[in-house]
Amino acid sequence: ALTLTNIQKSFGGNQILKGVSLDAQPGEFIALVGPSGCGKSTLLRILAGLETADSGDIVIEGREVSQVQAADRNIAMVFQSYALYPHLTAAQNIAVPLVMRRLTRTQRIPFVVPLMPGHRKAVADIHRDVREMAASLKIDQLLDRKPGQMSGGQRQRVALARAMVRRPAVFLMDEPLSNLDANLRVHARGEIVELHRRAGVPTVYVTHDQAEALSMADRVAVMIGGSLLQLAPPQVIYDDPQHIEVAKFVGQPR
Ligand code: ATP
Ligand code: MG
Repeated sequence: ALTLTNIQKSFGGNQILKGVSLDAQPGEFIALVGPSGCGKSTLLRILAGLETADSGDIVIEGREVSQVQAADRNIAMVFQSYALYPHLTAAQNIAVPLVMRRLTRTQRIPFVVPLMPGHRKAVADIHRDVREMAASLKIDQLLDRKPGQMSGGQRQRVALARAMVRRPAVFLMDEPLSNLDANLRVHARGEIVELHRRAGVPTVYVTHDQAEALSMADRVAVMIGGSLLQLAPPQVIYDDPQHIEVAKFVGQPR
């Protein structure tokens, strides 16, 4: 499980997060929604360890991680831009987190160039994990291609595969579908929900798309101006908003 307690963050005297508390159970899918600039990405970046909070606690599987380096938090994050390595193939992109974890510092460098004897076992395991992940996302055919040779939807799947391959304890996504066209988005929604169900880890999913929040989430977290105003199942948010700002936000034409 994931628990955030009273997370605060200011940038240059502006308080961006005003004491955000949130919990997500194993296997729970939380959609984080709110107007542009309300602090959604900042909250995810703090969770992932890419930014430090001014105060507050982050507990993942019983461990307080505020002082833990991003690489050691076992959190996977997928961004809007996917951020794949352009010079690596899909297979190598997916393997990166496994290589970082499994191989020692001196072994990591040869992995992306030729393979060296001496870490054959670890490399064989990595290849197997990459192939399994690729099969489950149906990207087997793409493994030898570089990002520049793939469509947006294919890149998005490679990014998802890379995020999930090391079996993270928490899955974070920041508008991962916003670069896709409408048809692909609907299709990709189903894939993400399926991936999430199989992984069974708490997931926080930032979206501007209220249809996504409604159709994918167990609970929706509505953040306005750096405060989490309501955290409830989608139907409750829409039927019974607890705050005028929530009602205004979810009531917008969409
Ligand atoms: P969007 O929906 O547009 O992605 P968001 O809810 O993700 O918005 P954030 O990116 O979290 O919003 O930004 C919240 C506020 O914090 C914004 O006013 C932004 O300008 C500010 N901010 C974010 N990062 C920094 C930073 N590193 N330095 C200064 N201000 C920042
Ligand atoms: Mg954002």
